[in-house]
Amino acid sequence: MIAQDTPCRRCAYNLRGLSADGRCPECGTSVARSLYGDALRYSDPTFVAKLRLGVAITLWSTLAAVPIELAAQVSALFALLVMANSLVSLAGAWLFTEPDPSGLGEERYGRARRLTRWSFVGITLVEIALEGARRSGLLSNVSPRLAGAQELALVGAGILAIIVSLLYFERLAERVSDRAMSLRLGDRARRIRGWLIVALVSFVIAEGARAAGAGRLILAALVPALIFALLTLVVLCVRFLMLTWSLRQALANEERHARASWSQPADD
Ligand SMILES: [Zn+2]
Repeated sequence: MIAQDTPCRRCAYNLRGLSADGRCPECGTSVARSLYGDALRYSDPTFVAKLRLGVAITLWSTLAAVPIELAAQVSALFALLVMANSLVSLAGAWLFTEPDPSGLGEERYGRARRLTRWSFVGITLVEIALEGARRSGLLSNVSPRLAGAQELALVGAGILAIIVSLLYFERLAERVSDRAMSLRLGDRARRIRGWLIVALVSFVIAEGARAAGAGRLILAALVPALIFALLTLVVLCVRFLMLTWSLRQALANEERHARASWSQPADD
């Protein structure tokens, strides 16, 4: 008999009080399947597949962003590609922030998961609105200074969204069964997050001083901070891509195990 609150892996029904060799009264999944803790390899494989696909889409749309952004500088035609890539990246974020159908993990990272999802939605909507306003000529009277501030605010919001995503990745990595891999992923996400905060702060200080009209001497002193922030961001972008690559592999591995265990007829 199950003595404590235990959600069914497929439908989140509380299995407390049921026999371990019985079945979930709600969805018919064997109770035994829900007794392995919160490791992803015992989760519903459809859910793990969504995580894996979402991380893969994030990886490829981040990679595509650089050439697309460069092309957009050359021709206005490519600005539409920038929008399309933002939507693809939103689709990726939406998938990797899907909740576990069993409700597992929510108590530890539900807030980071939802915050990640909605900051991606918010940023994409603002991007589309800005691009639309630009194209319809609504922003033609805006001073270059204000337009620059808009761009910077958007970049800052994007960095914040990635910081929150990393917080959520760290918790998600804890559900990877391979202990060494789980620790490595968490450690890498934590380090990237720490350096992103440092880069973001020096970026804000340097840009803030310029916007506030600081003296030439102060600005000259801030140049190294700005260069440091930009270089750090480039390095962190590469590290982030490498992390999503490893996370995608770890999730594919969990998904394979989940599919194998989920399809065992003796147990299901
Ligand atoms: Zn169930």
